[in-house]
Amino acid sequence: MAGPVTERFDLTDRVAVVTGGGRGIGRAIALGLADAGATVVPTARSEDETERVAETIRDRGGRALAVTADLRERAEIDALFERTVEEFGGVDTVVNNAGANPDTALGRPERVEEGGYELVLDVNLRGAFRCATAAAEQLRERGGSVVNVASVGGLVGLPRQHPYVASKHGLVGLTKSMAIDWAPEVRVNAVAPGYVSTSLTEGIEENETLRESILDRTPLERIADPEEVAGPVVFLASDAASFVTGSVLTVDGGWTAQ
Ligand code: NAP
Repeated sequence: MAGPVTERFDLTDRVAVVTGGGRGIGRAIALGLADAGATVVPTARSEDETERVAETIRDRGGRALAVTADLRERAEIDALFERTVEEFGGVDTVVNNAGANPDTALGRPERVEEGGYELVLDVNLRGAFRCATAAAEQLRERGGSVVNVASVGGLVGLPRQHPYVASKHGLVGLTKSMAIDWAPEVRVNAVAPGYVSTSLTEGIEENETLRESILDRTPLERIADPEEVAGPVVFLASDAASFVTGSVLTVDGGWTAQ
C-alpha cells in the first residue's frame, strides 16, 4: 500500500459512473476523475450535456461514454450499468451526484404538499440506492467504492427546504449503513458541500439578501466552484482513502464548523 501520495490518487484502469454528470458539480467530478486517469461514464437524462462532457474527456485523451438514464427508473439504471460493463469491462466507482430541489418542494412545512417530497426523495435518496445496488456485484468483485454527494443539508437543517434536507439526511444515513454492510470489500463515503455555484443555485447569485446571509454563515466567505467539490470526491474514490469508509467529508467553507 505504500507509495507517494500522488500515485495513490492515480485512478488509471478504474471505471467510474457519475450520475448528474452533465453539468454543475457532476460535470466537475467527471472531469476530475478523468484527470486522475479514470474511464468515466457521465449519466443524466439530458443526452446533450453528458455527451459534451464525454467529448471533453476524450478530447483530453481520456476514455468516456455518455449514457442517458432517469434515476427514477430501475430498468434504465440496470441498462446503464450493463452498458458500462459491456463497454469497459466493469465498474469500480459510483458517484451518486444527481439531485433535485424543485420549487414545489420549497417553503414552510405547512405550505409544501406531499407531492413536493416524492420527486426529491425519489431522485436524491432512492436514485442513489438504486445505482449503488445495481453496481453492487461489480463493486464487490473489484474492491470498488461509492461516493454520495450529500449536502450541509444532510447534517444540519436549512430553512424552507425540508424535503431536500430530509433526502440528504437520508443519504448520509444510507452512506453509513451501506459502509457497514458492504465492508470490507466496498467503501462507501459521502461529501457534504455547502453552497456551490451551479444551475441549482443560480437564483441565489441574483438574490442579494440570500447571498449575503449565505456568505455570513460561511467562514471562507464565498460560494464554492464545482471543481472544489471534485477534488474531495477524487480523494475518496482513490487509494489515498483506503481506510476511509462511512465518513461524510464536509466541503462547506466551514458552514457546519460553528
Ligand atoms: P445541477 O446543476 O442542477 O445538476 C443536477 C444533475 O442531476 C443534472 O445533471 C441533472 O441532469 C441530474 N438529474 C436530475 N434529476 C435526474 C433524474 N431524475 N435522473 C437522472 N439525472 C437527474 O445541480 P448541482 O448543483 O450540480 O448538484 C449536484 C449535486 O450536489 C446534487 O445532489 C445537489 O443536491 C448537491 N449539492 C449541491 C449544492 C449546490 O450548492 N449547488 C450544495 C450541496 C449539495 P438532467 O436534468 O439532465 O437529468
